[in-house]
Amino acid sequence: MAIRLGNTCANCDKFMSDSTCAVHKVKVGHLYTCDNFEMKARLADERNCTSCLRFEREDCANPQKAAPGMMCAVWAPRSMSA
Ligand code: SF4
Ligand code: SF4
Repeated sequence: MAIRLGNTCANCDKFMSDSTCAVHKVKVGHLYTCDNFEMKARLADERNCTSCLRFEREDCANPQKAAPGMMCAVWAPRSMSA
């Protein structure tokens, strides 16, 4: 199974501008996640293969099916560094 990049605190709706979690009240960052993760609405609206970090790369999970309007479980935003 591919390592997931998208479900980190940095992409979570509960991640505050001072890098604290609104749920847990502690400093968090892109290396963390938890079961309360909720994708930021802006990112959720943009999720499809063309906005995926892995689009047209060797680590795409579904290279035969990847296309505009499609998405799979390991989508990760292009703004992330890997
Ligand atoms: S709710 Fe969980 S995933 Fe979201 S910022 Fe807090 S610790 Fe991170
Ligand atoms: S198939 Fe999955 S990994 Fe490949 S580009 Fe689409 S969302 Fe990304």
